[in-house]
Order: sequence, then C-alpha cells, then structure tokens
Amino acid sequence: MRVVCLPRELREASTQAARAGLRVGLVPTMGFLHAGHLALVKEARARADVVVMSVFVNPLQFGPAEDFAAYPRDLERDRGLAEASGVDVLWVPTVEAMYPDGPAVTVSPGPVGSILEGAVRPGHFAGVLTVVLKLFAAAAPAVAVFGRKDAQQAALVRFMIRDFNLPVELIVAPTVRDADGLALSSRNVHLDVAGRRRALALPRALAGGVEVFRSGERRAGSIVAAAAAVLATEAGLTSDYVACVNPDTFLPSDAATDTTTLAVAARVGATRLIDNVVLGAGLDADVRIGD
Ligand code: AMP
Repeated sequence: MRVVCLPRELREASTQAARAGLRVGLVPTMGFLHAGHLALVKEARARADVVVMSVFVNPLQFGPAEDFAAYPRDLERDRGLAEASGVDVLWVPTVEAMYPDGPAVTVSPGPVGSILEGAVRPGHFAGVLTVVLKLFAAAAPAVAVFGRKDAQQAALVRFMIRDFNLPVELIVAPTVRDADGLALSSRNVHLDVAGRRRALALPRALAGGVEVFRSGERRAGSIVAAAAAVLATEAGLTSDYVACVNPDTFLPSDAATDTTTLAVAARVGATRLIDNVVLGAGLDADVRIGD
C-alpha cells in the first residue's frame, strides 16, 4: 500500500492508473476506521483495479461549535486496517495541502443541503460536497463508494455527480451495524456504557417505525411519531429530527412507500448520532457484525 499526502501525488498515481487502463475506486473517509468503512473498500475492490482510500477530517464540514478538534483520530491504526483490507493507495492530506488558499469557491448543495442534517448543521453539506469534489478531481475515480448510513450525504453526492456531469459511478453500500444493532460510527468511541445503552434507542426507534409501516400505516406523521416515541420513552432522547424522506429527492414525504427512508438524528450526551432505514427493507437488510 502506498501512502500519499499531496493532491499532486494522488493525481500522479491516478494518471498512471489511467494510462495502464486501470479503473480507480475511491472510498472517502474521515478515518478512525471501523468495519463500515472496510465494507466500502470491499465494494470498491469488486468494481475497480486500484482502490484509493482518503482519510481526511475535513474542517470545512464542521461548524464552529462542533467536534472537529475532538473527532477521533488514529492514523497508525487506520494505516494497518486499510492495508489489511486491500487498499492500494491511502491518501492522507493535511488541511494545509487541501486548502492552501481558503477556499474561495465552495459547492452550494441546493435546497436538500439545508434540511434535516443541513438545518441542524448549517454549512455542513457545502463542506462535504466541496471536499468530495476535490477528492474526485485528484483521484479521478471511475467509481466512488459511500455508505447509506449517511443517506442525505449520499443523495447530495448523487445530485452533484448528475448536475456537474461528473464521470463517476456512485455506489451506496448498506449500513454496517454492531451485533446489538447500533450503526458503526467513529463517534461511538465517545459513548460510555450507559451512553451506548441509550444510543440503542436509535435503531430501536427505526425498528418501531418499520413495525408501524409493516402493520399497514402509510401516513408519514404516524410512522415518525412512533419512532420519536421510542427515543423519548426508552432513552429520554429528544431528536434533532425524525423524518420520512423520498429516496430520490430526499425531501420529506407525507405518504410512506417501501422505498421511503426513515431518518433520525439525536444527541446522546455530547455525542451526536444519525441513523436511517429503508421502510420496506427494514434493519434486516443492513449488515450485522457477527451474522
Ligand atoms: P466517515 O468516516 O464517518 O465520514 O464515513 C466515511 C464513509 O463511510 C461515508 O460514506 C459513510 O457513509 C460510510 N460509513 C460510515 N459508517 C458506516 C456504517 N456503519 N456502515 C456503512 N458505511 C458507513
């Protein structure tokens, strides 16, 4: 595995790959790798000849009161996990290398960028799309793999690829969950035993919404209310949002269908967690560690 730091070095590697007729697969991450990230590598490996993983905690997508400084980091561990999972090129840019001049220009995510996650985290998706566009420019991937765990992010990347005619195939991989159902997240390391127990209310809330949907309920309001009730009664959690969204537009929908995404965000102490499920598929469609 090669480890590169500068955008120029990555561009050289991707130009070399292109000359040799090899397809590049890109897996963007913020590091502190877990099995969810490694599942994305597997998807990339199946579709590309050269797998590039980026590890970059992108300051542009964190608000001033958010956890940029406290975001977990462990590059040595990441390096070992990336190599063992079959990454060919690990790209670890510094903030200075990524944003030597600012940036002056950023990507505007449009209306979906300012709802749900975007409403709670103003500027977050402009930061995400800007860095993703820079990653695409340097890695020139034929295919890029993102996780469904961050469903709104994946939808916005899909819109950017479409609107900017980027020659990148987008793969959205299923959410990987721990044996207890909690979606893997680098931020889970901040949860103590009691916090982790309360955090399990998120997947239970999603399961509660799915159950109501399976019983025949199609009014989004009732499904959302059922999920929010689980958060409140089981863990005393107030959500940032619970919403049913259309998978194509990512806009809230009133009438739920099999493909509707039920999305939730809540704070457990100082740790902010997000999760989602496709109503017709349920949590069983996700990957469960230990299965
Ligand atoms: P992050 O490092 O949290 O920014 O995530 C990098 C990529 O991994 C994103 O595309 C995420 O959606 C994806 N990802 C994070 N957690 C999971 C998970 N539990 N299952 C699948 N993909 C994930």
